[in-house]
Amino acid sequence: MISFDLGPDITAELERVGDLGRRYLRPLGIEADRNRAPVPPDHPFFKLAWQMGIGQPLGAAEPRATGGAPRIGARRGVLLAEEMSYWDRGMSVAMPGLGLGGPPLASMGTPEQKEHFLKPFHDRERPHWAAFGMTEPGAGSDVAGIQTMAVRDGDHWVLNGAKTFISNSMRADWIVVWATVDKSLGRGGHRAFIVEHDTPGLEDLRYEHKMGLIAYESSSFTLRDCRVPSFHLLGGEAHYAGRAGFKGAMKSFNATRPAIAVMAIGIARAAYDSAREFARANYALERPIPRYQRYREKLARMARKIEVGRLLCWRAAYLADSEQPNEIEASMAKAFTPVIAQEAASLAVEILGDAGVVNEHYVEKLYRDVKAMDIVEGTGQIQRIVMARRLVGLPQ
Ligand SMILES: Cc1cc2nc3c(=O)[nH]c(=O)nc-3n(C[C@H](O)[C@H](O)[C@H](O)COP(=O)(O)OP(=O)(O)OC[C@H]3O[C@@H](n4cnc5c(N)ncnc54)[C@H](O)[C@@H]3O)c2cc1C
Repeated sequence: MISFDLGPDITAELERVGDLGRRYLRPLGIEADRNRAPVPPDHPFFKLAWQMGIGQPLGAAEPRATGGAPRIGARRGVLLAEEMSYWDRGMSVAMPGLGLGGPPLASMGTPEQKEHFLKPFHDRERPHWAAFGMTEPGAGSDVAGIQTMAVRDGDHWVLNGAKTFISNSMRADWIVVWATVDKSLGRGGHRAFIVEHDTPGLEDLRYEHKMGLIAYESSSFTLRDCRVPSFHLLGGEAHYAGRAGFKGAMKSFNATRPAIAVMAIGIARAAYDSAREFARANYALERPIPRYQRYREKLARMARKIEVGRLLCWRAAYLADSEQPNEIEASMAKAFTPVIAQEAASLAVEILGDAGVVNEHYVEKLYRDVKAMDIVEGTGQIQRIVMARRLVGLPQ
């Protein structure tokens, strides 16, 4: 059974996010799209949101349960992620906070590491970001094939390699960087390090220019003889017996995947609303000629698929909250929702006709924003492979 009742606090939080979305997230997302540049980290809005306690919605690994109360962190993350993404998916990732850097610290970090690396995030005066660096120019889906090398040197580790498309990495206080101690060990050689922003050897940080989702930065960088103290090895040496490093990465993906998946539902809902408003304003929906019947059919198709996709995300988040395996369900959600969202954005453009391809209408931006949802956090093909292997009982 899935419980949808998360209490009055969450309802109030969603209302605050909705208000922020209407006033800032959507306008800033549109502005960034027109400027073709991410919203800068010193933009006053980020400070305002940070001081209000509203940050990135990917707090999925956060337990948020005290005094024996049930865990609701993943479901809370899913609700906030859909709402923020509805207003602007690019802005939802641009928001300050731990983002994808949070779950590995939460699931693998020692108490001392958590205390040390979370400290900046308690400062409410200035917004802070963290980032998660796995992808490399030659290793995206093939996570096991990362080439960034980590070599122990006394009480330091020396990192050499390159990372690409790492969200918010240029503005992050620290980045969780995945490297290998021995390429021949495959996943068994993986280690995660926390690399702080001003570490010498963290170089060549540069923006990648995307077709959509422009409000947040996707950056690439090089690690050149980048020395980090041994304290920065996430979880410490003991954590990496067996395949624990790789499992740590996978576990953090399972925690964040339902929230990423539901962001596509936020985009789909925005496309649906835009198309419905346009149809209401421009066409008499009751006119009995086939063209108008087709609009209604398209709107109904969008509405029912949005419901189905949302339920998949909810189920995966519920399982995460109740500490049950959710790998198949999270993959199902992530494989399904970007397809729905692409269809919804495409149908919305169709409904608007020529108006749909000009940038005065939000659907034109949604059409460009939505494509990356199938790529981030494991592509659709990879999710289908993960599901298929699991369903026939093969190991990952
Ligand atoms: C906007 C954006 C934000 C991102 N943010 C981050 C981030 O914060 N941190 C981070 O580490 N990474 C991030 N990424 C990178 C993202 O995780 C990768 O792009 C993704 O894993 C796919 O890797 P790739 O782009 O190298 O594609 P590839 O792995 O090269 O895949 C190319 C195509 O081949 C298909 N394919 C690959 N292998 C198989 C297979 N075995 N069978 C069938 N088909 C296959 C894929 O589905 C895809 O269609 C981001 C990417 C984008 C676009």
